[in-house]
Amino acid sequence: MGQRAVRDDRVTTHVALVARAFGAARIFMDEVNPEIRGTVERVNRSWGGSFEVRVIDGWRPLLLKKKAEGSRIVHLTMYGEPVNRAAGRLREERDLLVVVGAEKVPREVYGMAHWNVSVGAQPHSEVAALAVLLDRIQEGAQFSAEYAGARRAIVPQERGKRVVDAGGPDPGGPAAPLPPGDPAPPRG
Ligand code: SAM
Repeated sequence: MGQRAVRDDRVTTHVALVARAFGAARIFMDEVNPEIRGTVERVNRSWGGSFEVRVIDGWRPLLLKKKAEGSRIVHLTMYGEPVNRAAGRLREERDLLVVVGAEKVPREVYGMAHWNVSVGAQPHSEVAALAVLLDRIQEGAQFSAEYAGARRAIVPQERGKRVVDAGGPDPGGPAAPLPPGDPAPPRG
């Protein structure tokens, strides 16, 4: 919540990519720069999965609706309960909504959240806090997840880069560019 257009686009893109790569199903944002949505769609086309960017009409109605539906709200804040203590309880939940801020988060959020959780009691970044939280909850299992419909897959190497055709459909849109120096993935 509270992302500032333009200035925060890169950080917001990273929040979305970390959420996707660490097992979340979707991200909710007040305002979406089309470039962020475009980046996520290109990444989905190349690397699979159905991670979504959803636009919302403000954080308050979303939190109220999610709570009414039975979701549990985790707010990441340096002032919260240490993640080492909270992780065991969070692991038992099936439907979590994680709130991160781009700037000062309204006090009301602290009250609406089921858990206010800190990743260390020092200020750092919503990207890092989200990654650590999702990893602590899933204990690394997120890295073995299958991303359905991927066009490309990485074959892990000790050195160098190996990207292969994963057989996913080619829906026509452009794929995410490969990092510089990568060979083109072999097709068929
Ligand atoms: N001064 C802001 C505040 O009062 O929350 C810090 C903003 S920080 C740049 C952006 C977001 O990163 C925070 O809203 C929070 O979600 C997350 N964050 C930063 N440090 C954190 C920490 N130690 N533990 C958990 N989340 C943190």
